[in-house]
Amino acid sequence: MRVKAGTRIGDAGRALKQHGLSLINQGDIDTQALAGALSTGTHGTGATLGNMASQVVGMRLVQPDGSVLDLAAGDTRLPAARVSLGLLGVVSEYTLQTMPAYNLKEVLWRDDFDACMERHDELAASNRHFAFFWCPVPESRHLYCLADTSSVSNTPREHDVCEMKVMNITEDAPYTRADGFEKVAYSSEIYPIEYVPNFHELEYAVPVAHAKQALREVRDLMLTRHRNCIYPVEYRFTAGDSGWISPFFEQDSVTISVSGGPGIDYWDYLRDVDSILRQYGSRPHWGKLHFTNADDMPRLFRRYGEFVALRRALDPAGVFLNDHLRNLFA
Ligand SMILES: Cc1cc2nc3c(=O)[nH]c(=O)nc-3n(C[C@H](O)[C@H](O)[C@H](O)COP(=O)(O)OP(=O)(O)OC[C@H]3O[C@@H](n4cnc5c(N)ncnc54)[C@H](O)[C@@H]3O)c2cc1C
Repeated sequence: MRVKAGTRIGDAGRALKQHGLSLINQGDIDTQALAGALSTGTHGTGATLGNMASQVVGMRLVQPDGSVLDLAAGDTRLPAARVSLGLLGVVSEYTLQTMPAYNLKEVLWRDDFDACMERHDELAASNRHFAFFWCPVPESRHLYCLADTSSVSNTPREHDVCEMKVMNITEDAPYTRADGFEKVAYSSEIYPIEYVPNFHELEYAVPVAHAKQALREVRDLMLTRHRNCIYPVEYRFTAGDSGWISPFFEQDSVTISVSGGPGIDYWDYLRDVDSILRQYGSRPHWGKLHFTNADDMPRLFRRYGEFVALRRALDPAGVFLNDHLRNLFA
């Protein structure tokens, strides 16, 4: 599919449906422009599925002097440009890999934290998509507008629980069960969740081998030192990719996200979460809050030096840098 970079993800999905096609995967909201989502490494969940930028097989970038740079499949600069935060030019068009249209069956339920951890590997391996929100207290789920899954719960508890979700491709025709916790629809009608964003989020990609331990430490932190931080922790899977500064560069990962509520001083909490996650070589989601600095970059991204050299070659005057990016990529 050739698509203008400013197209919103939801509009791309609706157009693909008309042509009997689907996006391979997508995230929790579909109101972003493709360029913003892809440039930051935006992802959905699925242990074998890459982030959205990994679906890019060609792109057109406008350079600082107004010239046009077309990157086609096989161009060695394409992996650098897929996730590049606007540093290599203004993307005007993408060519995205799509697949034949499919319906997804979504099933939601609630489990105890320990039960979720026990089934974690099996659920990740046996479902195309598996994700959950860990909720320390019952009020947590209201903050993310999560439905009350008590009626399909595997646990009588409402605190220290995981709101679980699996999604799989199905031949079934669309339906929604009366309680709403099982439904089938066209792919792009299932991926987005409905919520009112009212939080400030940090999300890191943790190497999958360390993810359960990292989550346990974040949970301990929230149950002890930061009991006033009650927004759900979202836990999702993304396969490794070849993007030079992609959060998933050559690393199958679990993304762990935490959120601070507006009106409270959440910076100590986010710094403490950063201290936990950075021990595991975790990388930031470029579209969210993070504490990554220039000293961290070569350790986190093997091709960081090459990325900076390419950026300097394409934009020697630093037209596409701002203060935040200058600190990381000058
Ligand atoms: C409520 C909410 C839910 C979210 N859910 C998810 C999720 O499920 N999964 C996930 O991974 N992320 C998620 N995100 C993060 C979100 O996808 C990113 O923040 C994304 O960048 C937002 O897109 P935007 O169009 O607003 O981008 P912007 O904020 O406008 O831009 C982001 C970056 O892309 C660059 N950029 C934008 N347009 C271009 C262009 N034409 N050419 C070159 N560079 C460009 C900008 O310079 C900037 O560096 C969520 C964010 C919110 C607010």
